[in-house]
Amino acid sequence: MSDDLIVQAQGLSKVYRRGSESVRALWRADLRVIRGQFIAVAGASGSGKTTLLNLLGCLDRPSSGSYRLNGREVAGLSERELVGIRRREVGFVFQQFHLIPTLTVRENVQLPRMFGAQAADRTDELIDRVGLAHRRRHLPRQLSGGEMQRVAIARALANHPALLLADEPTGNLDTATGRQVVEMLRGLSASGLAVVVVTHNPAIARQADQILNLTDGLIREEG
Ligand code: ADP
Ligand code: MG
Repeated sequence: MSDDLIVQAQGLSKVYRRGSESVRALWRADLRVIRGQFIAVAGASGSGKTTLLNLLGCLDRPSSGSYRLNGREVAGLSERELVGIRRREVGFVFQQFHLIPTLTVRENVQLPRMFGAQAADRTDELIDRVGLAHRRRHLPRQLSGGEMQRVAIARALANHPALLLADEPTGNLDTATGRQVVEMLRGLSASGLAVVVVTHNPAIARQADQILNLTDGLIREEG
């Protein structure tokens, strides 16, 4: 199998129980993402976008189906094994940035390394790469929204992941700043990452190699 195939999901489903009811949050999803690809996930609120992202990021386990990440089947792994995989192989970016307010830019970017990362320390290089060399010692509250999201992107790259997942990364940004963040994500995919972005932003969707539209847990491909 090709090393370029980062995500390979087949029949991936997640069913939540709510009392006597069950909710098909994701139903029999098939998905392949290779290195360098930029995938957008669109769909109404409640359609299963976050569920899909959480499964791809090993934050959650599927109810059924197969998920190979970097060629390794992860669907049956224990929570402990999943923790290791998501630290080493996946980077996450969220709408609310999730920076630690009492840590500087540099410390925030360095944080994932404190959890037993093996990769070489690339903190300063990553901060340069997202254009924040002049902000290393600043605290999150001293930054703009766009800068905070760039710190979050640098942090997501700290352990040199193959897969970058972003859930509404421009949801809290104005249009121009959001566009810069999209450009940055696009650039990262061009440099060899597999990138999957959940978004309502048509500007992001336009940049994508492929758009996955979710409706009630069902994926429909587009473009
Ligand atoms: P989206 O991100 O597109 O808004 P989600 O993936 O968060 O959608 O949710 C998909 C469906 O699954 C929704 O009906 C939601 O209510 C349900 N759901 C999500 N998480 C849970 C959970 N932990 N327990 C029960 N139902 C959930
Ligand atoms: Mg969501």
